[in-house]
Amino acid sequence: MAHVKLKDVVIFETLDALSNQIKDENVRLETIDLTKRNPATGPIYVENVEPGDTLVVEILDVAPSERGWIRVYPGGGVLHDKLFKPKVKLLHLENETVKFNNIGMPIKPMIGVLGVAPSEGEFPTITPSYHGGNMDVALITKGSKVYLPVFVEGALLALGDLHAVQGDGEICSTAVEISGEVKIRLDVIKGMRPKYPIVELEDSYSIVTFGHSLDDALYRASEEVVKSLMRAHGLEFEEAYMLSSLIVNLRVNQAVNPMRGIRAEIPKKYVKLNDLLNYGQSP
Ligand code: CA
Ligand code: CA
Repeated sequence: MAHVKLKDVVIFETLDALSNQIKDENVRLETIDLTKRNPATGPIYVENVEPGDTLVVEILDVAPSERGWIRVYPGGGVLHDKLFKPKVKLLHLENETVKFNNIGMPIKPMIGVLGVAPSEGEFPTITPSYHGGNMDVALITKGSKVYLPVFVEGALLALGDLHAVQGDGEICSTAVEISGEVKIRLDVIKGMRPKYPIVELEDSYSIVTFGHSLDDALYRASEEVVKSLMRAHGLEFEEAYMLSSLIVNLRVNQAVNPMRGIRAEIPKKYVKLNDLLNYGQSP
């Protein structure tokens, strides 16, 4: 396993969500080895990072391959009960845009899978949980920072499943699936960690939760954001609950993975990072 130091710049080379097995649009589903679905590159061991800390992952760049694909398959996505045929489309990336038929759109390459090791055992790279994983948060792109709770020594960070373009919800269960290169820089916050992964943008924090249903994930996101507002402003539950209704946006990350994903977005003017990190202490 590769060992890296804090502040090192690390480059991950990643395969696409079917381990680069799709070469043309006529590929037959039965020839694809689905055990190679959603691979992650890694893990890497980060020195001086221990359980109870926060691993800070600064996304410096996400460089996509020149070609991506999207596919639908019966039983997949939000409309899984409809009758439809499997279909694959290859999509070419050129000059920061991708064309779907004659519909052009700007690319915004993002990281679908990003996670550390859980406290014990293994965790499939197809679901999100406390450790990160298959979060499919379209905000995890160049310029963002992700704060992950650390459960084991060295954190054991892995990532993959890049998308050139993805909308919130990821309705059909795939996006513009690409291989590529991710450049990150790592840091640590000692002795504090978030309950769930946090994504930082220039003007907001997002608490990234998961659940067996979207309702379940919405509940977790709401519960955690209200606790954070209680800490941030010294409020009792009732008032933090009211405030959450005014300043927090609940958004769908993906509605299609085995565990669904929601994020609670809070503008930075209402909360500090520390208010999101002291998990384990009373709110
Ligand atoms: Ca994914
Ligand atoms: Ca994907």
